[in-house]
Amino acid sequence: MEKLQVCRLCGKSIAYYVCRLCGKNVCANCYDNGICIDCKLGKKLKSK
Ligand SMILES: [Zn+2]
Ligand SMILES: [Zn+2]
Repeated sequence: MEKLQVCRLCGKSIAYYVCRLCGKNVCANCYDNGICIDCKLGKKLKSK
């Protein structure tokens, strides 16, 4: 009976945050400025 979810990216820490883009549950280490590092690195913000 797991109430707390583990981070979807690193799978080690408890996911306290939710990415605004992909909706993944991520931990503080994998969360930055409202999005997960996966989106951050993947997006590369093409629009300036
Ligand atoms: Zn993580
Ligand atoms: Zn994301």
